[in-house]
Amino acid sequence: MKKRPYRIHHKQPPQKTRDFESIEETLMKLQKPGPKGSDYRERSLKIHGLLCAKCGREFDEKTRHLLTVHHKDGNHLNNPPDGSNWENLCVYCHDDEHSRELLGNYLRDQKE
Ligand SMILES: [Zn+2]
Ligand SMILES: [Zn+2]
Repeated sequence: MKKRPYRIHHKQPPQKTRDFESIEETLMKLQKPGPKGSDYRERSLKIHGLLCAKCGREFDEKTRHLLTVHHKDGNHLNNPPDGSNWENLCVYCHDDEHSRELLGNYLRDQKE
């Protein structure tokens, strides 16, 4: 009786069919400490919620990247832990807010 050589069959791990990140991976990335001071965004989103302060649009975990933190006094170094200098604005409103500021300053400068 012939003995078959014993072979170890390496079972391939099941292929991942999803090409998007798992929630765990996304969370890990979000929790990674960024450059100094950049964590205020997460804090602001936590304090004020996933909501644009201007247009009232609501965001969820999938669209939260469209929410940005606006500094009410324009000073990015002023980050009080109670969030009083932060405003959550969607990218569109944030853009609008700043172009208006620039325009406002421009018009004011023209007058003076
Ligand atoms: Zn908005
Ligand atoms: Zn801003």
